[in-house]
Amino acid sequence: MRGAKSLHIYRRITQLGFILFVFLMPVFDILRYDTTAKELYLFGEVWSLGLKDGILLDRSIGGATHVAVQFFLKAILPWVIVLSIFPVLGLLLGRFFCGWLCPEGALFELADFLSLKLLGRRSLYKNKPNDPEIKRGHKLLYGTLAVLSLLIVPPLTGIALTGYFIAPKTIWHQITTGSLTFGVEAGIIGVSIYMLITSILVRHTFCKYVCAAGLMQMLFGWISPVSLGIKFDRENLSKCTDCKGCERVCLMNVKPRLPKKDINCVNCGECITACKKELGDACLFSYTFGDNVAEDATKDMAQFLQLKHGLPRPGESR
Ligand code: SF4
Ligand code: SF4
Repeated sequence: MRGAKSLHIYRRITQLGFILFVFLMPVFDILRYDTTAKELYLFGEVWSLGLKDGILLDRSIGGATHVAVQFFLKAILPWVIVLSIFPVLGLLLGRFFCGWLCPEGALFELADFLSLKLLGRRSLYKNKPNDPEIKRGHKLLYGTLAVLSLLIVPPLTGIALTGYFIAPKTIWHQITTGSLTFGVEAGIIGVSIYMLITSILVRHTFCKYVCAAGLMQMLFGWISPVSLGIKFDRENLSKCTDCKGCERVCLMNVKPRLPKKDINCVNCGECITACKKELGDACLFSYTFGDNVAEDATKDMAQFLQLKHGLPRPGESR
């Protein structure tokens, strides 16, 4: 079906774009704290309280007001804004950031993809009923890709993230001259170990139970009456072919046809793409704001089970 994959492609573009943005922020002094100079860089400028010279010696009301206003504007307000980013995102967009922007989520998806190609399943440990039906890849090709990813991505990320604390120019100089200081070495090795553990062993379990940004979006998205979510069109339930494509593509192990809103959904839209592939324009999923909780879950589910499988309604025996 033409256009069925466009959401998927847009998502890959936003993920790659955000990774690039995170990598380049310290390089262009958009955001970094220089631990040597003990200065915070923000949008190319050194961030300071902006106090007038000698103001701390001024005991007048004007002087005190100036200090209080500057302290509020330059120290308190920025922190309030930083701390409210993920709650506000959650209130408006649910876990959209996780599905469309998060660099770590993108890395976990890469690990899933390589596991699928090499082992035929997402998990390293066991097959799951909702593993996508994917053609296994050439072992040598995907084995090489997996090894290269493990060798390149973690140290590269380590270099990029260390740049938030040590000037990128200094890091680059140390790398090219082969004379790494303890701080740079510790940053690169620490991040690499963390990335290897999370992307090989933990993956989306980390998103579900550990990531503070994810948990904040989950909580605020859950309580928000207006947040973005995925809607399943129950009016047209009869069109569902029960192909299970929507369940198999779900990286968060959500069953998107179930009426109950699942707090783990990251609004990635892969279920929309899968259903479009199966049903074309009759796709049963769509994005919606504030309308993603079924009013009568039990009734809907009973209707679905009867319709598709002639199964008994909840509470009935066959
Ligand atoms: S339910 Fe759909 S939108 Fe939500 S995480 Fe799964 S595939 Fe993505
Ligand atoms: S992808 Fe669409 S047609 Fe297939 S099971 Fe899911 S809702 Fe039904």
